[in-house]
Amino acid sequence: MKKLKHITEVCREIYEKEGFSAVCDYANKILESDSLMKSDIAYECCKACNTDAPAWRHVCLACGQETTPLPLPLPEQLRAEAQELIDGGNSHEKREGYGMMKVLDALTTITAKFCPEPIYFHVIAAGWNGDTQRQEVEVNAGDNGKIMIVKTDEGFVIDVYGQNDLVDTMAVWEDDMNPADDEDEKFDPNNFSLVEKEDFIDEWGQYTDEVCAELGYDEETSDDLLMVDYFFHAESKKWIPKCSSLYTEREQAIADYLKLG
Ligand SMILES: [Zn+2]
Repeated sequence: MKKLKHITEVCREIYEKEGFSAVCDYANKILESDSLMKSDIAYECCKACNTDAPAWRHVCLACGQETTPLPLPLPEQLRAEAQELIDGGNSHEKREGYGMMKVLDALTTITAKFCPEPIYFHVIAAGWNGDTQRQEVEVNAGDNGKIMIVKTDEGFVIDVYGQNDLVDTMAVWEDDMNPADDEDEKFDPNNFSLVEKEDFIDEWGQYTDEVCAELGYDEETSDDLLMVDYFFHAESKKWIPKCSSLYTEREQAIADYLKLG
């Protein structure tokens, strides 16, 4: 009875007689057939042959050395491959290229549908965290780390973490988000227009005779008395109340300013 030769043995002989491509042809025939053996055969990386070679259970069918599985090609690589077939192939290869594209498109759609998780800014958790007893948001920042936003009594703290450590932190005070009208700025004398000052003097200033008549003071000796509650605005020659409950805050600020001048 004739002893059946193992495929590795057969291929070894083909390789020695006809070379590498003949081994590929032989392996391709098996891969295209219904042979049960084809599940054990695959093109893999053979370092000895320095190329992708047909292998039987990770043994190169050409040289007999151990092979390693080819890395799974990325979709972009497959697309490029398909495009190459479409652009430069014969009619059969073109059809194959279009077929590949169709499958790749379908896979992309399926992947997007079932794995919709974006790499960046996927919110991992948001809201009240019972463990830390605070409001917080955890957002992933791709492969590199994550961003935490924590609510504090005063505002927010934004922490950026790398894979291991805190990289940067920033605090934002809630008060700063909508600052109230700045009091200092509101009463800054530089913000009093000339018109506003004149209007103020017109409204609140009185000449000596007017104010003395009103208060019943003697014009000749009234200065010291008037000085108690009024100041003399030299430029307009008018007396102006130092303080008045009738003043608005802004008017008081104008009075304070003119008093200094
Ligand atoms: Zn080899």
